[in-house]
Amino acid sequence: MEGEMRALETLGNLSGKTVLVRSDLNVPLKDGVITDDGRVRAAAATIEKLTAENARVIVISHLGRPKGEVDNSLSLKPVAQRLGEIIDAPVSFVADTVGAEAAAAVKELKDGAVLMLENLRFNAQETSKDAAERSQFAARLAELADAFVLDGFGVVHRSQASVTELAKALPSAAGLLVADEVAVLKQLTEDLKRPYTVVLGGSKVSDKLGVIDHLIERVDTLIIGGGMLFTFLAAKGHKVGASLLEEDQIETVRGYLQRATELGVELVLPSDIVVAEKFDADAAYEVVAADAIEESSFGASGIGLDIGPESAKLFAEKIRAAKTVFWNGPMGVFEMENFAAGTRAVAKALTEVSGLAVVGGGDSAAAVRALGFADSDFGHISTGGGASLEFLEGKQLPGLEVLA
Ligand code: ADP
Ligand code: MG
Repeated sequence: MEGEMRALETLGNLSGKTVLVRSDLNVPLKDGVITDDGRVRAAAATIEKLTAENARVIVISHLGRPKGEVDNSLSLKPVAQRLGEIIDAPVSFVADTVGAEAAAAVKELKDGAVLMLENLRFNAQETSKDAAERSQFAARLAELADAFVLDGFGVVHRSQASVTELAKALPSAAGLLVADEVAVLKQLTEDLKRPYTVVLGGSKVSDKLGVIDHLIERVDTLIIGGGMLFTFLAAKGHKVGASLLEEDQIETVRGYLQRATELGVELVLPSDIVVAEKFDADAAYEVVAADAIEESSFGASGIGLDIGPESAKLFAEKIRAAKTVFWNGPMGVFEMENFAAGTRAVAKALTEVSGLAVVGGGDSAAAVRALGFADSDFGHISTGGGASLEFLEGKQLPGLEVLA
């Protein structure tokens, strides 16, 4: 699907050269503390390889959505410190990107040393809709370095200054993480081992329509949980109480149900649901049949916050029977312990798959770590939510195309 990407080696001998590395260090933060450093850990390999080659490394990334203005709560400074701990080497930080301070810090950079610049999105040009503005920002970044390595898989589906324009402005190549992510995801699109089961959850069905539409032709089994399952139940004519429901997608979803039948694809919906009195960690809850949500004691105001135990068992059985599994989107509101069991059961089943089991999606990756699983329990945890979904949809990703 994607052409071959230029590998890191194609940049030649980088000793003494200054290399800009675009990582995706967009980590979740709570009160300035990193709550999941998975993306920083994933970024380390490329940075360590470059410093081992005696390159001068400048790491760049975005963090959150500061809307083109300085927002100190979204500074990359704590991320620079965390990266230093992970690679066990000093990582200096400058609160600037293309100004005089950054240029001065780059000038000071020694062979084999690492410098991190401030959040790219403090500059509105980074994500500007105007290509000329993006090119301008990329050109100023390019002045700082001799070569560019694109290693932020989470942003390869974005046409942004530090992704596509910067890759055009300097000799450029894919980093180890991008190469690794693409290699794994290719196993889900080419020569895959069957049965192939995809598990989708998360909050909104409208976020995942593209991927459902594309995958329904390719999978053997499609399992639906999470907030989106209620739109599926509604499409089957069931009442869903006050659960998450996207009325405007019911017709589309009905079409998927029909196509699944026509194609002989097994579409698995939950048979039981954990219904809560309200959207609250301490809310009272009951397990009811999926076609009788409003028959709980909370009536029409009950909210489905997780798949029930019978469904969790069924989903786990289906997952374990597969040879290739892709999972995106939590099965319930896993952030609340009472509604985390479905997600935990699915995660556990993925660790027991004998073939390739891939977890994709920012919240899904955070969920498995929060529930106590290790990254190594899975075949692969993708650092890119949107990027992995778009890859599976068969879309051309601008950040990968530019490296072809
Ligand atoms: P990802 O980032 O892995 O792609 P999403 O962003 O699509 O996943 O969805 C994650 C969110 O979905 C979680 O915050 C979770 O609480 C929420 N969610 C899952 N099930 C439900 C539900 N039944 N009702 C409301 N929200 C849900
Ligand atoms: Mg998400």
